[in-house]
Amino acid sequence: MKKVAALFGALLFVSSVDAGSTSSKETVIQEEETFAIPAKPEIVEKGQIGEILSRIEKAGFKIKALKMVRLTKEQAAEFYREHKNKPFFDSLCTYMSKGRVVVAILSGPDAIKRYRTLEGATDPKKAAKGTLRGDFGTDREANAVHGSDSPESAKREIRFFFSEFETLANAGQKHSAPQKNFAR
Ligand code: UDP
Ligand code: MG
Repeated sequence: MKKVAALFGALLFVSSVDAGSTSSKETVIQEEETFAIPAKPEIVEKGQIGEILSRIEKAGFKIKALKMVRLTKEQAAEFYREHKNKPFFDSLCTYMSKGRVVVAILSGPDAIKRYRTLEGATDPKKAAKGTLRGDFGTDREANAVHGSDSPESAKREIRFFFSEFETLANAGQKHSAPQKNFAR
């Protein structure tokens, strides 16, 4: 029974009626998690972490895990490995390791796509006003925030930064021991 209730809670049912048609349809929007960097180094430096987290919460996302870390250049290269042949790769890794960043797990219906929309275009100059990059980004490299682009990258990126203990997957279990479970 508990399992059924949990499954039901994980799905959001939205009913809608097509304009100009009599047929009604039911869309099931999946509750999902995404990985975000709500503050790349320049945002931490400028003291805009709170403003961005507030925008994220106001947009309806739940913050499921949150911490500040400082990457080495090698760790940044591993995180962004899909870009290793791009001309901007070396500069990107230097930038992402030059200061602390804030990393988070966000959840909500259709969170991956909706957070990418909230982020705005990669280049802040092309990002719409009201998006995080449009309002807080500096240039194509220092573009304020990051968000996973697919369920596969969300899974990989969450695991890259967060241990099971930190994701609270085992919250409430008797013998959860943080010092043994920290991944990095
Ligand atoms: N980036 C850059 N120069 C570019 C494109 C991207 O420095 O021409 C940086 C930027 O910080 C971006 C990250 O590399 O967020 C990853 O690039 P991607 O194309 O995956 O963009 P995103 O998914 O972050 O919008
Ligand atoms: Mg990307």
